[in-house]
Amino acid sequence: MTYRFIDGHNDTLMQLDHGVEDFFKGINSSHIDWPRGKKAGFAAGFFAVFCPNPFTDPTPVAFTTSKGYEKPLPKPLTYSYASNYTIKMIGRFLELERKSNGRFNIARTVEDVEKSIKGKGMAGILHIEGAEGIDENLNALYVYYEAGLRSLGPVWSRANIFGEGVPYRFPSSPDTGPGLTPAGRNLISACNELGIMVDLSHLNERGFWDVQKLSHAPLVATHSNAHAICPVTRNLTDKQIDAIADSNGLIGVTYSINPNMVSPDGKNNERAPLTEITRHIHYIAERVGIEHVALGSDFDGTRIPLDLKDVTGVPRLLELLKKKGWTDEELDLLTYKNWLRVLGDTWK
Ligand SMILES: [Zn+2]
Repeated sequence: MTYRFIDGHNDTLMQLDHGVEDFFKGINSSHIDWPRGKKAGFAAGFFAVFCPNPFTDPTPVAFTTSKGYEKPLPKPLTYSYASNYTIKMIGRFLELERKSNGRFNIARTVEDVEKSIKGKGMAGILHIEGAEGIDENLNALYVYYEAGLRSLGPVWSRANIFGEGVPYRFPSSPDTGPGLTPAGRNLISACNELGIMVDLSHLNERGFWDVQKLSHAPLVATHSNAHAICPVTRNLTDKQIDAIADSNGLIGVTYSINPNMVSPDGKNNERAPLTEITRHIHYIAERVGIEHVALGSDFDGTRIPLDLKDVTGVPRLLELLKKKGWTDEELDLLTYKNWLRVLGDTWK
């Protein structure tokens, strides 16, 4: 049987530079498109708007010493550059729905997401990864909300006016810098007020605890794994995992192998077996309960293991959990019920 699932993070919008039609026709260079998503059971996903730095070093993360790596983060972006880019990508997201002939719907309510789980179509949740396209007075936030924004990570890893994210560093604690700025605190409160989900995935540890103290909503990391297994900055410490569970929140487990957030040795390894991903799912489920773990691929935003290949590999991952003894009820929680609960507790 094919499970219909909600996925916590993708960068697929960035794959559609030649037109949104590619999404429906299918493009081999991406991890997700409509034909493969439909086949795999991809019912809904968080579609990220991420502003690339015009001068980003495109080389993959690699070990620079025998023990690990540290890759410097790109320079901060200006608001004018980032807001331009953000508007372009939100426009693309709206166009995806417009040109879909009913196959792709923008989810603005929990009912919209539920409909896609029960039906045959696909729903997209608009997410911003790194709020550089939002001004200090938050005018843009309210505009993007009206356009459909329902999820926001205050920072991608690079610093901005709201806070600082973690650098690419292995091995390393996520406690890498200062917490939220006053503007960052205002941003979190405004997200609470509007009912926008706050994503903690790229935030450093002090920023994480600032949100934990401030936010009234469940804590969510859409694409992060367990630091106890793979000690990279982007993963969550046991204390953070516990805090997310205490807030009745959720962790979307990512398949990223560049940077490698899956394997204990942190080295880029396209041959990482699927069991290395399920190990993180088991770890979080055993530590805090199945109610607090979900899927958060990072498709089209990173490299993933060859064994998974693309969105069509997700059913194999779920089969593997089933073989390890997960019941259908438990798989329902992992694949969509946990996301529906958290969105229901967060969105207005
Ligand atoms: Zn990310």
